[in-house]
Amino acid sequence: MHIKALVLDNFKSFGRKTRIPFYEDFTVITGPNGSGKSNIIDAVLFALGLARTRGIRAEKLTDLIYNPGYDDGERPASTREAEVEVILDNADRTLERSQVATAAGSDDVGDCDEIRIRRRVKQTEDNYYSYYYLNGRSVNLTDIKDLLAQAGVTPEGYNVVMQGDVTEIINTTPHSRREIIDEIAGVAEFDAKKEDAFEE
Ligand code: ATP
Ligand code: MG
Repeated sequence: MHIKALVLDNFKSFGRKTRIPFYEDFTVITGPNGSGKSNIIDAVLFALGLARTRGIRAEKLTDLIYNPGYDDGERPASTREAEVEVILDNADRTLERSQVATAAGSDDVGDCDEIRIRRRVKQTEDNYYSYYYLNGRSVNLTDIKDLLAQAGVTPEGYNVVMQGDVTEIINTTPHSRREIIDEIAGVAEFDAKKEDAFEE
């Protein structure tokens, strides 16, 4: 499974609907400083609900909504929305159709060659709302998290390696470096289960 495309709409510096295709093996994004490269990574963290632990660069969720006066600290118009869709190529059936249907709480999820995870944030005058969709079906963050975990994508995992992560891994103690490797290898999950079992 890999990211096939990303669709950003009104997200951070992407004031227009923008579709970014990804290759199967390797995709490099280049551009001048401040052109929005890191905003693309933020979009992935936002849509997949990985934001909290993986350091998305925004103080409030609503800072993620496009604001033409952003750099001048201008107050945006009252009702605003941003949306990001991550389109995963699942042709190799990393996730079975039944797993997707269970997470979506519906059998109406298509053939699941593609898994589309979409998140929308809406700001009204006095509140904000967040919505998740899985192949067009409205779901909760837990449904998305549970499904992604079955494909080895977790908030604690290193599916997204942020700026500074590599330096941190190099500078950390051998013990915590071992913990990170266990986490990546998927062993940590079993260690935690073993500990739980001993406690019981
Ligand atoms: P660098 O090479 O310096 O790392 P980058 O390509 O990663 O740059 P980003 O950090 O992705 O650049 O983009 C930063 C720009 O995004 C800022 O200039 C800021 O104006 C813009 N930006 C961030 N949030 C918003 C927003 N809500 N609305 C409009 N523009 C925004
Ligand atoms: Mg950057």
